[in-house]
Amino acid sequence: MENAPLLDRYVELIGETFLENIYKKARSVEGIRVLHINTTHRGGGVAELLGALTPITDNLNIQHKRKVIQLDPDSNHFTTRIVDMLQGGIAGTIPEKEKQNFLRWLQQALPQQPTEEENADIYFIHDFQLIPLARLFPWLQPTIWFCHIDTDKPNPDAVDYIMEYQRDYQLCVFNNPFTVFKQHLGDRAQVLTLGIDPFTEKNAALSADVGEECLIRCGIDPKRPLITQVARFDRWKNPWQAIDIYRRVKREEPEVQLALVGAMEAADDINALNILHDVQKYAQGDPDIHLLSDPKVVRHREVNALQRYSSVILQRSTKEGFGLTITEAMWKYQPVIGTTATGPRTQIIHGTNGYISDETEEATEYTLHLLRDRDKWEEMGQQAHEHVRQHYLIPTMLIHYLSLLESVSGRTPSQTDNPGAIPAD
Ligand code: UDP
Repeated sequence: MENAPLLDRYVELIGETFLENIYKKARSVEGIRVLHINTTHRGGGVAELLGALTPITDNLNIQHKRKVIQLDPDSNHFTTRIVDMLQGGIAGTIPEKEKQNFLRWLQQALPQQPTEEENADIYFIHDFQLIPLARLFPWLQPTIWFCHIDTDKPNPDAVDYIMEYQRDYQLCVFNNPFTVFKQHLGDRAQVLTLGIDPFTEKNAALSADVGEECLIRCGIDPKRPLITQVARFDRWKNPWQAIDIYRRVKREEPEVQLALVGAMEAADDINALNILHDVQKYAQGDPDIHLLSDPKVVRHREVNALQRYSSVILQRSTKEGFGLTITEAMWKYQPVIGTTATGPRTQIIHGTNGYISDETEEATEYTLHLLRDRDKWEEMGQQAHEHVRQHYLIPTMLIHYLSLLESVSGRTPSQTDNPGAIPAD
């Protein structure tokens, strides 16, 4: 295998031994073709992680293809219901008629036999709603199901729905240990924590001058303190609490501004539009609350600037499977004020590299503390950056991802079961 330049760039960050272990694993699955199936081209965590992973795996001679199954309005409605039940634990049962309609719709989502476009050696089905695919299309084998939502406290009827179809998968993968349906899946349950690419426009170093220009373009005064939450406009991201915290902070620090950043890639995303309108009402025309949803204004460079040059970063999600936005902000030396949702709980070490609290009052205290004690903010930000370097960069995700491929491929595994840790600085 030739060297992969995109991977070699990481040597300074992860060390020679870890890098070599990745090559060993990659050799054992070299030439394999993988098809990833999900429901969105752009936007959101799945698109983000595939975008980061596949250029490197191409380099490693593991071919990746993508197939996007676009949901129609009825399927979208069904999906929203299931996510509310699985993620929010909302009571009730799934109406049989809706279930059957969705299955009928899914049945025409793929061909009965794979064409060249779908042909692969291993299939990944992302998103919980697509779980019936492996049953409906027996050629999707071997298959791995990848659940990206926060299933810490699911509704039992929704779990039954998932359980009915999970048997068709060799492995069921979750973003963090808290969301695994352990009692049901046994050894087939795996955790693959996600990682970010530090070399992209969104995450690479950005000078203060350019950062300032970006903030000005977004209508923000770079000379005044700024609290930011980067998240899709979605009920589970809880933008309302971010506003509540900002309002309490503003009573004591009148200069403060708030940015809620959720570029809407799909202009017809009705759910996001509804939430945005609701949040607009909640903001009551406050000129210091910036709702940034236009993708022409909020591009990757602006996200970088907002995460890097805000005074304090919030992530108030009531449910969060992982939260790449947390990882991205931590990489940019920001201690994040998160919640007890499973994603923030996985990444943030309370009091060391960020804070965890669900309460508005307490989160306000932490925000004020970080705004006022910039030495502490800087010290915790250093810890946050180092934590991401050791645990949540692409190479860590990649080595676990290669292990998944190895374990379902039937190839002889490399002798690198324990990839080792990335050494501390
Ligand atoms: N994102 C973005 N622009 C925005 C809002 C979000 O590029 O205006 C990106 C964000 O930087 C992150 C991803 O979308 O990489 C969101 O992933 P996350 O895991 O935080 O949440 P999800 O949307 O998957 O629930």
